[in-house]
Amino acid sequence: MTDRIEAAGPFAGRLVAWQRLHGRHDLPWQQTADPYRVWLSEVMLQQTQVVTVLGYFDRFLQRFPDVFSLADAPPDDVLALWSGLGYYSRARNLHRCAQVIVNRYGGTFPSDVASLQALPGIGPSTAAAIAAFCFSQRVTIFDGNVKRVVARYTGFADDLSVRANELSLLAHANALLPPPDRQVDMPAYTQGLMDLGATLCTRHQPRCQVCPLQQDCLANLTQRQQALPCKTKRLVRKTQDWFVLIAIRPDGAVWLMRRPPTGIWASLYAFPVAASLGTLLAQARLQDGEKVSHLPSFTHSLTHLDMVIRPVCVAVQPGWSFPTDDQPAHGGEWVQPGGELSLGVPVPVKRLMAGLASGVERGSRV
Ligand code: SF4
Repeated sequence: MTDRIEAAGPFAGRLVAWQRLHGRHDLPWQQTADPYRVWLSEVMLQQTQVVTVLGYFDRFLQRFPDVFSLADAPPDDVLALWSGLGYYSRARNLHRCAQVIVNRYGGTFPSDVASLQALPGIGPSTAAAIAAFCFSQRVTIFDGNVKRVVARYTGFADDLSVRANELSLLAHANALLPPPDRQVDMPAYTQGLMDLGATLCTRHQPRCQVCPLQQDCLANLTQRQQALPCKTKRLVRKTQDWFVLIAIRPDGAVWLMRRPPTGIWASLYAFPVAASLGTLLAQARLQDGEKVSHLPSFTHSLTHLDMVIRPVCVAVQPGWSFPTDDQPAHGGEWVQPGGELSLGVPVPVKRLMAGLASGVERGSRV
């Protein structure tokens, strides 16, 4: 199979014209060239859908309107505001990055990709997005959507599981950028690539009949849309049981404890967990008896892992606390399920707390 490296021209021009007429213009982070807002949106959009990000983006900006307020915030405040978005290392890196920008750059984002990429939590795509959207730099964002569009348009059929092939595709993408005398088009071009990949050149059912690139897209001309891009190595997913102990005091409060600083749910507050019910009860110095009730289990999926959450409830006496001699003590708190959560908690814990607050757990579902 042949592919081509094409000098910038029809591709960039058509994409920019299409974006101005048909692309997305109404998202709150599109109306600005402020690096703080672009950076925040890019980090939130990693692994998370636009519709979910919208509410978080607004709340985050209300609480932290600029990089200085974010840098000054206690880490737990940032995690609490991030609760429910998942992939919490993003929030920790966001906070660290804000501090570096304030301390090293006086609160002004650097404009070049290399300096941006050296900041905590900023990878090649986020750095390129900030540089292109805010400083009109001629750099390619290279996320999954963009790889798909470029591979199809150029007929690039080599296996993208191989790093050298991925770099080769990046060279194709760089050759398609607007020419230097059209650098001013970089924000619309970058947004156009993202929009086209998200709305027309989708993975399963690309809408080539309305695509501005249809007349010279090699995948369309040879009907190989489904075969491109080629990636042979797929993620190997694992499944794990997570037994979760919901210890409830007579006043209805439940026990949450801080997780270790590394690993899944690092530094967040969660119910005590273990890989088996026996281990969990032993750690809690409880017996599996009449006081223990099982709630319906559910699956929470991470990129590589399906966590089967198996919650058990147990009524404890006022003086009870979770023994910490079997594992590192990271502190804990009694929390009322119906109260405003000021702690950073992972999605499944938030879901269980909501179920406890509404009393649904006393029926058949959480
Ligand atoms: S013509 Fe079809 S395959 Fe080619 S870029 Fe457009 S939507 Fe994708």
